[in-house]
Amino acid sequence: MNYISTRDSSYSVSAAQAIVAGLAPDGGLFIPESLPSFTLEEIGALSKADYVGRATEVLSRFLCDFTKEELHDSISRAYAPEKFPPTAVAPLRPLDGQASVLELFHGPTCAFKDFALQLLPHLLTASLKKTGEQKTVVILVATSGDTGKAALEGFADVPGTKICVFYPDGGTSSIQRRQMTTQSGENVMVFAAKGNFDDAQNGVKRIFIDKEFAEELAEKGFLLSSANSINWGRLAPQIAYYFSAYCELLNQGNINLGDPINIVVPTGNFGNILAAYFAKHCGLPVKKLICASNKNNVLTDFITTGTYDRNRDFFLTASPSMDILISSNLERLLYLLCGRNAEKLRAYMAELSTKGAYTVEKEVLDSLQSEFAAGFADDEQTSQTIGRLFRKTGYLCDTHTAVAVKVYQDYADKTGDQTPTVIASTASPFKFAGSVLPAIGVQPQGDDFALLDELSAASGLPAPKALAELKEKTERFTDVVESAKMKNAVAQWLTK
Ligand SMILES: *Cc1c(COP(=O)(O)O)cnc(C)c1O
Repeated sequence: MNYISTRDSSYSVSAAQAIVAGLAPDGGLFIPESLPSFTLEEIGALSKADYVGRATEVLSRFLCDFTKEELHDSISRAYAPEKFPPTAVAPLRPLDGQASVLELFHGPTCAFKDFALQLLPHLLTASLKKTGEQKTVVILVATSGDTGKAALEGFADVPGTKICVFYPDGGTSSIQRRQMTTQSGENVMVFAAKGNFDDAQNGVKRIFIDKEFAEELAEKGFLLSSANSINWGRLAPQIAYYFSAYCELLNQGNINLGDPINIVVPTGNFGNILAAYFAKHCGLPVKKLICASNKNNVLTDFITTGTYDRNRDFFLTASPSMDILISSNLERLLYLLCGRNAEKLRAYMAELSTKGAYTVEKEVLDSLQSEFAAGFADDEQTSQTIGRLFRKTGYLCDTHTAVAVKVYQDYADKTGDQTPTVIASTASPFKFAGSVLPAIGVQPQGDDFALLDELSAASGLPAPKALAELKEKTERFTDVVESAKMKNAVAQWLTK
């Protein structure tokens, strides 16, 4: 199975080439030229396998130029017991009523991005071999917090790769900063960049489009690449956990094989919910996909009206990983909803870049609404949801997950839909202890590390070891660079 560009259906490459390139040369995103399909029998068989078995089966249908052995080997290493809990990599916890929470935060950095970023380095190095690329891949990342750490943790000491992360100086929580600056590994580098996240991101983009620099690096044996969520290698691993969630519901006796479920996803860049959409279109029985946003509710408006308009105020919220106005992965969905019409898609994307807005046609909107429901929650509602859920069920969730819980409750109240529902939980509540504590009625007292203990005492849950241990680790990376000098910083590091 090959991958084509959303902006040119005739541009076709192998899975390995798509993973190495990240983005198509025309600026489009790679998408499978056709989707594999799973029968109910095959889904039933998956429920007998462990997580590694399920993921291997699902990914082998998408990454056809990889052998099953190769995939099994990579996947076993990515989700090894020293990284994820051996009993359940992606446990499903029944909540109240018809809802269950799919906990995706038990990986090394306590957010769901570990599912993709623990596996991507293995897929990328295998893809380099398949495509005959000899150079050392240098991954550049600009991060507002979660992606940088997950990428560092995934690529640390992976042969044939180096990784450099830029985070906005003073723009992250101190837990997030320490997660990055204490990173071990011989091939890693972390810089604070002066300015905000956009400045860091623009700095990285400038490096990527600098042809002269690319040639200079190529002479020294380096090739720049990206680990952000437009890379198919980051999206594919996420499809597997929706299959796994269905298997868990089967195994828990909550559904019978073939029964439909709903899936609710707290959404930013539209990667995670798009993975659920792909799972559905490969045969997983899914009724509604429910897209949950915070106050940056550009997607809620799009799904309810058909107009995507990024010309609006940007809010910093208590669910910062969803503070985003351009959801890059929406391009893949639009392409499919337009009936794989690249021309129409290009027109929408051109309007987005010139006017910051576009409106889809009625047929596209109808088909969007037949599959998706949408809603949003502001910080106040998010906080109330964390508190109410904790008092009622004893379940503690983070701010991102709480947005999804609230949007699901509104959806269920409004529609009366009783379908069993999986809510994706994307981060550990301990990662956002500063917002979670007041939500359960505790005034936060000390620094970020004290908050971990306070949340542990208030909830009776242990703080994740990976976060608690940060306190004892020395910060290895303390350089601050001007955003205009990021390229020099990369060059100096590479030639050291
Ligand atoms: C990245 C992230 C999201 C948003 O996921 P998308 O795939 O970008 O929609 C939600 N919650 C958390 C905790 C995240 O880190």
